[in-house]
Order: sequence, then structure tokens, then C-alpha cells
Amino acid sequence: MVVRVGLCMLQGARHAHIRSLQQASERSGIEIVICELRTESQLLKQHCDAYILPGGESTTLRRTGGDVKSGGSGILPALFSHLRESNSPVLGTCAGAILLCDPRDGGDPLLPASIDRNAYGRQTESFQDIVTVSLFDIAEFPGVFIRAPRFEQSSIRCESIALHNEEVVGIRYDSRMALTFHPELTEDSRFHIWLLQQASHSSE
Ligand code: GLN
Repeated sequence: MVVRVGLCMLQGARHAHIRSLQQASERSGIEIVICELRTESQLLKQHCDAYILPGGESTTLRRTGGDVKSGGSGILPALFSHLRESNSPVLGTCAGAILLCDPRDGGDPLLPASIDRNAYGRQTESFQDIVTVSLFDIAEFPGVFIRAPRFEQSSIRCESIALHNEEVVGIRYDSRMALTFHPELTEDSRFHIWLLQQASHSSE
């Protein structure tokens, strides 16, 4: 099968996600089509099998992708409802993780955890460090944290899949994943492979 991946193109490292997806496709042998999504109508027309919400600035993303009545493109509320109805796999990175945990569209969070934006401090507190990923058999992963949010640790009501020191920085709820770091800014495409595998398994 060919997996159609819907990439929310509002802001942030979306071109890096395209490169990671292409690499993930080559490494996994799963064929993909990448659908660039900016508006509600594109989302509704494209019928994708999996979605990516890249990082950026969550306040800007909420404004540009928010409700049409408030001047946004409408893609975010449409995507959140679609994810709730379809249970399609989704990967949210950094600001994308903030939106999945705190969608503010009147519906339930897509992942059950509270998240605190800019919790590490200013841009100068951005850093790179090793993250330990239990999803990949406790493998080390290069964690790139850019003005990253933090999960409120006691609020997490789903599986923790990535740790930085003792702190949970990646969570999973069925085939929904939220990471506070940026795998698309590394050469390691295992999270993107995971997303493609979720989509190809769910259609079997
Ligand atoms: N600090 C950003 C926010 O609050 C997230 C940063 C990122 O996505 N790299 O939205």
C-alpha cells in the first residue's frame, strides 16, 4: 500500500519533516505520498492515512490554523475532529505536541497529558542531548530541544516512550505520539518510520 501522509504546512520545520519522511520511506520500504495541508478543505479532500503536526510557535499556529470565523485557515479544528473520529496515526513535535495535548477546540485532548510551553526558558536555553527511547528498545536518540515545552509529569495518563535524564519527553496514546523535541532535525528517521508503520498496519 501507499501511505498518504498529511503534513500540516502552517509554520515551523515542515521541510525537514518532508526529508525525514522520504528517508523513512526509503529505509522502511513503505511507499508514501506527502500531502501538504494548509486549509480545512485540503484536509477534507486529501483523505490521508497519517498526519504530522510540526513545531513552530503554538500561538501563531493557533491563529493561522484556527477557526475560519476568527480569520484562520480552519485546518486545526478540522484536523482535531478528524483525528478523534478516524483514530488516524499522528505525530506532533514540539509546538505540535502542545496542540495535541491542549487543542482548545472544545473537544478532548488528543493525548492525555498537560503540557507547559516554553518551560525550559528562553531561546538561549535550547539544547541538544541524548534521549532514551523505550519504544526503540531503550535506544539512544539525539534530542534537539528548541524552546521546548515540558509535560507536567504527574499529569501523564498514557505511555511514556522517551526520557531525557529522568524526565518524560515523549508520550504515546495508541497511534498518537507527542514529542517535545525535534526528530526531523536529525538524521534518525525512526519516529517517522514508526508513523508510517502505524498507518500501514491499521489498513491491513
Ligand atoms: N516554544 C514554542 C511554543 O510555545 C514551541 C517551540 C517549537 O516548536 N520548537 O509554541
